[in-house]
Amino acid sequence: MRIDTEIVSGWRTCGADRTMSDTDCPGYESEPCDVVRETITRTFGDRNRGQGAGATGLDPFANAESDSLVYVRPVNGDYTCPHCGAPANFTLEPRPSYRRLSPTHPDELVRRARGERQRAEQSMTPAGRQRRAAG
Ligand SMILES: [Zn+2]
Repeated sequence: MRIDTEIVSGWRTCGADRTMSDTDCPGYESEPCDVVRETITRTFGDRNRGQGAGATGLDPFANAESDSLVYVRPVNGDYTCPHCGAPANFTLEPRPSYRRLSPTHPDELVRRARGERQRAEQSMTPAGRQRRAAG
């Protein structure tokens, strides 16, 4: 097993629940930042250990790469969004944007959830209760 750690250019994207605020966090658009990229590489010998294949030394693929995992972490260990404090995502690529296939706007569900939340909040205020009582 080999572990390679290096600091590379990456992206930070706010992961806040968009339906819980009236506007998008400025961090919703991916922002460039340095990230730690940790790559863990395992060989077939690592994978077959304990099953005899590697112990005999006869496995011709023992040193061939079997698989690898890549972890991306913030350089300073801080996973929070600097704009709003919500957890942020750290990636090697910015948030992708996909071709629109639906006639419905992609933010329609967020728009509806924000509207429902605002109506619920208004009905909780004294002014909102008076309006309902009068109406
Ligand atoms: Zn944020």
